[in-house]
Amino acid sequence: MLNAISMATGDGDSSRVKRYHRTHRWLSVAGFVLDLAYLAALLLTGWSVGLRRFAESETARPALALLIYLSLFALIHEALDLPLGYLNGYWLEHRYELSNLTPGGWAKDRLKGLAVGGTLGTLAFEFVYWTMRRWPGQWWIVSAAAFICFFLLLAQLGPVVLLPIFFKFKPVEDPALTERLMELSRRAGTRVGGVYEWKLSEKSKKANAALTGLGNTRRIVISDTLLGNFSPPEVEAVLAHEFGHHVRRHILRGLAVEIATTIAGFYTVNVALRAWGPSLGFRGLADFANLPLLILVTGALSLVLLPLVNLHSRQMEREADAYALRSIASPETFISSMEKLAAMNLSERRPAAWIEFLFHSHPSVEKRIAFARNWAR
Ligand SMILES: [Zn+2]
Repeated sequence: MLNAISMATGDGDSSRVKRYHRTHRWLSVAGFVLDLAYLAALLLTGWSVGLRRFAESETARPALALLIYLSLFALIHEALDLPLGYLNGYWLEHRYELSNLTPGGWAKDRLKGLAVGGTLGTLAFEFVYWTMRRWPGQWWIVSAAAFICFFLLLAQLGPVVLLPIFFKFKPVEDPALTERLMELSRRAGTRVGGVYEWKLSEKSKKANAALTGLGNTRRIVISDTLLGNFSPPEVEAVLAHEFGHHVRRHILRGLAVEIATTIAGFYTVNVALRAWGPSLGFRGLADFANLPLLILVTGALSLVLLPLVNLHSRQMEREADAYALRSIASPETFISSMEKLAAMNLSERRPAAWIEFLFHSHPSVEKRIAFARNWAR
């Protein structure tokens, strides 16, 4: 650990950090291109219509036929995506000594992810195509409204329902630390339901902490990897940043952005499916053979919006850092917590400017530390 820190505190990044991020980026690009090729092949070769015909030959009920289509669609996608998923999620993390996962543990997590993602995805698509059949003119407004309600529900229930599927949590057993963090929450004017230790070490050597949930499910979660390596004032500095998001109303701002992009997304899908559907051989809007087109359009839209969303996010991160520096005793603990996080997570301290602009939701470690040093003066 100490070695990793002293190596990383020089100017810029070590070649090891650069290689890790470069490999990660190339594997992500390859996964993206593969997804694109799969969706385009389904559309342009008529295979999507073929899959729909097969599903409809098995049942006359549209919801059931869609379920068959979705299952086949997801099964083929999983088979294609598995090798890259393994390289990016298991091989790379082990190669850079960032992971504690066993091959069996990785497979179990992958299956759990498929089960959870498959269930939520099936419910979402069944609902969307149901609204298309029922209200062909207004389906996109109804669907957008339902999705927004669902996001709100997920933000509230996620930490108590979804996260425990993948991780174990237990209350932090250090009364002094708990009291210190509860005092931090009082200073931020927010109520939290408790301070929990997040057992991340079963899977990873990386460190993380968060303020999760909404309303009465709001709680502080701190990875055991972080608790084992950070002093209490450093843990406080990390959490002070999280409370900064609360004080500056970033949760609301984030939700507002989500609401706006959801409405824009459904509207764009509606226009695109109507414009391009007939030439691709679909019977109409509610013909679920158009699913690859629906995914392509939403994917393209999120790609276009990504730099804007990240710009907004980096702005909020700076505001949260400013709050953290105001609410803790010394900027030095903020700086040392940043150094430790960067070393444990193998973060890029100084990414290329265009990479930071396009892809990073947080300012670079170097900029955040420089900001804290300026603050100290
Ligand atoms: Zn943040």
